[in-house]
Amino acid sequence: LNNDKSQLSAAEKEFENNIRPKQIAEFSGQPQAIENLKIFIKAAKIRGEALDHVLFHGPPGLGKTTLSRIVANELGVNIKETSGPVIEKPGDLAGLLTNLEPNDVLFIDEIHRLSTVVEEYLYAAMEDYRIDIMIDSGPNARSIQLTLNPFTLIGATTRSGLLTAPLLSRFAIKSRLEYYNAATLKKIIERAAGILNTAITSDAAGEIARRSRGTPRIANGLLRRVRDFAQVLNDGQIDLGITQHALKALNVDEYGLDDMDNRILNTIIEKFKGGPVGISTIATAVGEEPGTLEEVYEPFLIQEGFIQRTPRGREVTAKAYEHLGKKPSRGAND
Ligand code: ADP
Repeated sequence: LNNDKSQLSAAEKEFENNIRPKQIAEFSGQPQAIENLKIFIKAAKIRGEALDHVLFHGPPGLGKTTLSRIVANELGVNIKETSGPVIEKPGDLAGLLTNLEPNDVLFIDEIHRLSTVVEEYLYAAMEDYRIDIMIDSGPNARSIQLTLNPFTLIGATTRSGLLTAPLLSRFAIKSRLEYYNAATLKKIIERAAGILNTAITSDAAGEIARRSRGTPRIANGLLRRVRDFAQVLNDGQIDLGITQHALKALNVDEYGLDDMDNRILNTIIEKFKGGPVGISTIATAVGEEPGTLEEVYEPFLIQEGFIQRTPRGREVTAKAYEHLGKKPSRGAND
């Protein structure tokens, strides 16, 4: 099941947009982030100023885009959305910034993928609401300074470790999104089912929630697939039986672990006797970047108790062996 936004089909994107909460009250979970945002939004509105720049960071599918739109909505301003790799030249950035109305939001997804040049232009824009642009070329080239309307930059990233210190320091509000517990995911699933006009029993919603890797995007994606099974086999009613049948047919792991999660655990067990083994070594073995492993995959595996960090590297736990139906090798984890 897809949790990589860049690989969602048009239909999946449309589905996501349809069920995306638009108001802060419809957004479940992330209590700490929400509580703070409410205060900052209210204060900015009282002062009639642009909200300070915000960075949302954390694994994919936890609601960074959703929250960014909610923030703009609550502020009562427009939001322009773009992403790091799309802004190729300083001129692209200048175009976006000069088109903002006072206090508008500019949302840059995947902000860790901004080019160095563009990033440097962004500093002055964030700090002083101004941007220098070059006009003409060759001997007539000169730079002029444009004053911008006050605005809020909201950046989103799954890889905050890749952000430079100067960029990080310009976000006054930094908010790390956390994995959702099953109870909150269950609420999210029931809300989405309501929007889809699909009947779902409480135990069925709970079952999907438990197997969604703590991630709303996965929960909603599974709901969509289970609904297909229910439509064809059960008059559209989602109950526990049809849910279990569908999740089995879809090969959804008991704990919601995805292919990469299982590959990581398998690799540590098979190739490194259960660990401890360094993160870069695991990364090479599974063909991922160490940073992605550390920021995107590992946090869930650690939170759920499949992996632990030790001074000598990562090692799998008894739960991982049990989950994969393997026996700990003699001497593992000692
Ligand atoms: P991200 O930008 O972090 O990758 P999105 O904001 O695109 O994640 O969210 C992915 C999907 O999950 C969207 O369909 C969104 O509606 C849903 N979603 C995320 N967080 C929540 C939440 N707290 N409540 C309800 N739905 C959510």
